[in-house]
This record gives sequence, C-alpha cells and structure tokens, in this order.
Amino acid sequence: KQLAVGVVFGGRSGEHEISLRSAATILSALDPEKYHVIPIGITRSGVWVAGPAATEMLSLGGQVGGIESPSPARILASLSSVLGELDVVIPVLHGTYGEDGTIQGLFEMMDIPYVGCGVLASAAGMDKIVMKQLFRQAGLPVVEFRWFTSHAWTTEGDALQSDILRQLGLPVFVKPANLGSSVGITRVDDPADFAAAVALAAQYDRRIIVEKGYDVREIEVSVLGNDQPEASVPGEIISGAAFYDYADKYSPDSQSQLVIPAPLAPEQIEDVRRLAVRAFQAIDGAGLARVDFFLLRQTNTLMVNEINTMPGFTRISMYPKLWEASGWSLPAVLDRLIELAFARHAEKS
Ligand code: ATP
Ligand code: MG
Ligand code: MG
Ligand code: MG
Repeated sequence: KQLAVGVVFGGRSGEHEISLRSAATILSALDPEKYHVIPIGITRSGVWVAGPAATEMLSLGGQVGGIESPSPARILASLSSVLGELDVVIPVLHGTYGEDGTIQGLFEMMDIPYVGCGVLASAAGMDKIVMKQLFRQAGLPVVEFRWFTSHAWTTEGDALQSDILRQLGLPVFVKPANLGSSVGITRVDDPADFAAAVALAAQYDRRIIVEKGYDVREIEVSVLGNDQPEASVPGEIISGAAFYDYADKYSPDSQSQLVIPAPLAPEQIEDVRRLAVRAFQAIDGAGLARVDFFLLRQTNTLMVNEINTMPGFTRISMYPKLWEASGWSLPAVLDRLIELAFARHAEKS
C-alpha cells in the first residue's frame, strides 16, 4: 500500500515564498511508486488549502493572498477539510508558524507522524537567543551577543545602544530573534544606522539579538537522524554580497557560490562535523537540520552560528546538495526522513 504523504508549504512567515520553492523540489523528488503525495498549502493569512488551490499556490509562487483576517473558526474548518487520511506529514515551512514548533504541536495533538524536529527543538532552534544560550551551555563556541525586547528599546534605547556598541564594537549584526533567510537582518557599520536596523528587526519579532560581526568564512553541514545523527560533508558559501543576505541567497542574479566539499584541512572537517552533531543534540534535534558555522579568518577557529531545523530545499539549496555529495540522493534522503518520522512517532506512543 502506498503511504499518504502530506507536503505542507507556504504559511504565515516572512519565508513564505522560499517554502513554496522548497516544497516544489520535495514534491518532484518523492517517489510516486511509494507515496501518494498530497500537496497542502497554507496561505499567508493562515488558511489551509488542498487540491487545485494548493497547486495554484505553488505555481503562482507566493501571489495567493487569501482572505485578510480569517477567524479562528475559519482556519480550523480549512484545516480539518484538508487534513484527511494522512499517514505522515512533511512540514516544508521555514520561519514562524512552521519551523518554530507551532505546527509541530498541532501534529502532536492530532497524533500524526511528521518529518523533522519536535516542538522543543523547533522552538529552540528558531529562536536565536535561546539557541545560542543552549549552545553555550553545551560548551559549543558561539559568537558574542546581546539581546533586548522592542519594549526595552522604546523605553531605554539610547542607553542600550551605547552599552551594546561599547561591548561588541562594530560591525554588529542586528537580527529578529525568530526568522530565517536573512529576513530582517542588517549589518551595521556606523552607529548612526543602528536604530534603523533595530526598527527593521522589530517588524518581525518582539525580541532582537545583536551579534558581534566577524570576518568569516561560512561553512554549513547537513545533519540527518534521530538518536544517532549523522553529519554530511561540509560545504562553504562564498557570498557575493556584503554578507549572505536574502538577495544573495535567492535572487537569480546572485553572485554567491556553494563550494562542496568545503576546502578545509582534514582535522577541521572532522571538527565541524562533530560540532554539527553536538549542536543538533544540544537542542534535542530529530530528523534533520542544517548547522551553519563561521570560520573566523583572524584566528582560523570555528564558531556555531545557528541551526535551521527546516533548512531550504530549493533547487539551489545546501541541505540536499551536501547529502548528494555524501552519497545520498534527495529521494533517498526523503525516504530516510519519513522512516525517522515513523520511528519517533512509535517511540512516543
Ligand atoms: P538562514 O537562511 O540560514 O536561516 P538566518 O536568517 O537565520 O539565515 P543567519 O544565518 O544568522 O540568518 O545570518 C545570515 C547571514 O548574515 C550569515 O550567513 C552571514 O553571512 C551573516 N552574518 C550573520 N551573523 C554574523 C556575524 N555575527 N558575523 C558575521 N557575519 C554574520
Ligand atoms: Mg537561520
Ligand atoms: Mg533558516
Ligand atoms: Mg544561516
């Protein structure tokens, strides 16, 4: 019997469009002999759609608006109309309401097996403040950072700014605590630009993180597994911009390049793969994640930048490419992820 696999995409996130692109790659790689694949879209306003409406969402690439402010009852009704007889779900959602534990909680409540990290790992991995605190506690090297709420910023912004810049120096990277694809992130080189960077980040989250900016090489590793996670070969990103921002990641005329495997010394390759597994375990990861590293040019030392519990799966994305270079095709990775989802579900029930 074929397994009914729901592939969920879109969602209420600043990474809505990237999710559509990731889902398109996954839909085309799931083996139709093994799986009965059901595309399921979530509009920007949170309404669930299946069938032709979901296909239309994919082909329009983020243009579908949906109703402005659906009521909770409307969202619930849309959800129950699309989540019929599914054996397993792949939530191909990046950022808020998808990669942050919220949808994982929904699947837990409904007792549906799902691919990837559970509630805790998703929430911890999405929040750059909590993530970095957990990494630090696990003894992993992390960048120097400070954080504050947008409330604190409105009441004592001037004092915060001078205190933080005195501690971290320049440049700094100002980021919303929860998001991805570099959305809402600014590199600040001049104190005069700090307030605007905070205002931008505050559009996406009520908590803001400010990190010391380093001169870095960027290394990424894919992780796959539950209790015995495995790390792929590392890859390197040569950014074509001032930093690896949204346009550099996804625009068709981006100058960025992926170098796979990353040209590193053999010991450094082992270090980075070990650190990737430890980062995955520090948040209690399951299924998959991509761990992003900085290799500081000055000291040639590694730091864990962040973990992404639902990394990009677009045609140009690092996660599937690193496994391909490690001998795992995308269909094989997806088979494995589905097995891991069932294994985790069986463990809990
Ligand atoms: P992703 O798409 O990987 O989820 P993200 O939105 O979570 O991205 P980060 O990975 O934290 O954001 O940062 C995006 C990019 O900004 C990094 O890849 C790097 O180019 C640059 N960057 C971020 N923080 C720093 C830092 N502290 N020092 C130097 N460069 C940084
Ligand atoms: Mg990220
Ligand atoms: Mg991300
Ligand atoms: Mg990143």
